[in-house]
Amino acid sequence: MHEYTEVTEQLGRQILQYAQERLALDPVPLDRPRTVAELDTVAGEALTAGGIGGEAALQLFENELAPACLSIDHPSYLSFIPCAPTREAAMFDLVVGASSIYGGSWLEGAGAVYAENQALRWIAGLVGLPKSSGGSFVQGGTIGNLSALVTARETARARTTTRPYRVAATVGSHSSIASACRVMDAELVQVPVGEDLRLTGERLREVLIDEGPESFFAVVATAGTTNFGVVDDLASVADVCEEFGLWFHVDGAYGGAGLAAPSIRGRYAGVERCDSFIVDPHKWLFAPFDCCALLYRDPTLARAAHTQHASYLDVLTEAPDWNPTDYSIGLTRRARGLPFWFSLVSNGTDAYTAAIERTLEVADFAEQEIARRDYLQVVHERTLSVIVFRRVGWSPADYQRWSDRLLAEQTAFVVPTSHDGETLARFAIVNPRTTEADITRILDSMA
Ligand SMILES: *Cc1c(COP(=O)(O)O)cnc(C)c1O
Repeated sequence: MHEYTEVTEQLGRQILQYAQERLALDPVPLDRPRTVAELDTVAGEALTAGGIGGEAALQLFENELAPACLSIDHPSYLSFIPCAPTREAAMFDLVVGASSIYGGSWLEGAGAVYAENQALRWIAGLVGLPKSSGGSFVQGGTIGNLSALVTARETARARTTTRPYRVAATVGSHSSIASACRVMDAELVQVPVGEDLRLTGERLREVLIDEGPESFFAVVATAGTTNFGVVDDLASVADVCEEFGLWFHVDGAYGGAGLAAPSIRGRYAGVERCDSFIVDPHKWLFAPFDCCALLYRDPTLARAAHTQHASYLDVLTEAPDWNPTDYSIGLTRRARGLPFWFSLVSNGTDAYTAAIERTLEVADFAEQEIARRDYLQVVHERTLSVIVFRRVGWSPADYQRWSDRLLAEQTAFVVPTSHDGETLARFAIVNPRTTEADITRILDSMA
């Protein structure tokens, strides 16, 4: 199975053809999950001592398993945060897979690391971080946030003899912040928010003074909360972090992409003062799963916190090179920033700006359509491309039935969310192929 034979050659053609056909589908089928019992009957016996051969395995995937996976890039997939890779990024993922690149060290992956750093530099420029900033691509926002917070704590503990153990954020911060705190045995302190749902310097300051600022090592501001797309008041939060000497982390996993959209760039004022920042190109920057850009203002602090030391690694860690693995949790890494880099370089950054602006246009249309219909109400004014709204008179069961029906009819995938105990509908629009007509059709289905 390591030899390249005629059979391999034939399978290669079939796999490339499958990938090409999948990429050409317009529209892609939405598809639907199947039960374990259903999949057992079609695939339960697939794993055998003798093997079924590549062609049969591919057919099994194509006919039975792939249709049991939702197409996240379907234009009417508006749940959670979707992912709509560019054709270039999706195709190049195949190349990365075929290339046996180790993305953890410069020694082994210099060319790939160079390219990834070029893509990171573009993001750092959007944020307004200095040239000396840097980081790496990690698997997702969860690992990105955890890695940044570990660096924050290591840095704080190296500077003081107190052992700060707290992180401040709002209730709107992503679940991965609470998860990171659990992993680190840190305490997450929630700063209250007002009507606008934003973290502000003023409220942060009150909490820090009440709780004792020396017990904190980081503040997490969100640039685009997952549920509502709220961007915290980054400038006033930066002021307070500076006043108390606290690490300022900005979680832009979803919303960070908006930095490339001139029409909303002003909402991020103050982001350039962060100590660390993340954005998931697999959300609103059109890269395939899984890809999070993690950046530090001063990467030497991250290197001090994350570099793994062992006799068998000395040859890497004693070199002055840029080793991506030194900036996050984890050692072995796929060069997962390469598909994003390839697409950026192929299409140019203007195409990214245009694609993000297009999703904002459709989000604006959706918000107006919701406001115009008497059976719907916008719950919170839109900041980015997430819209949360109410169907007047519906119970939680009504929302669920409606959502189930859309999936059963294969017209859309829109799951309900909740806020303050109320079940609500929510659109997350990050796919430039989502159209006004898709939105109208879904809203009509709620009449
Ligand atoms: C999605 C998201 C995360 C987590 O990112 P993953 O890539 O799913 O691990 C963190 N923060 C925010 C604001 C998010 O939207």
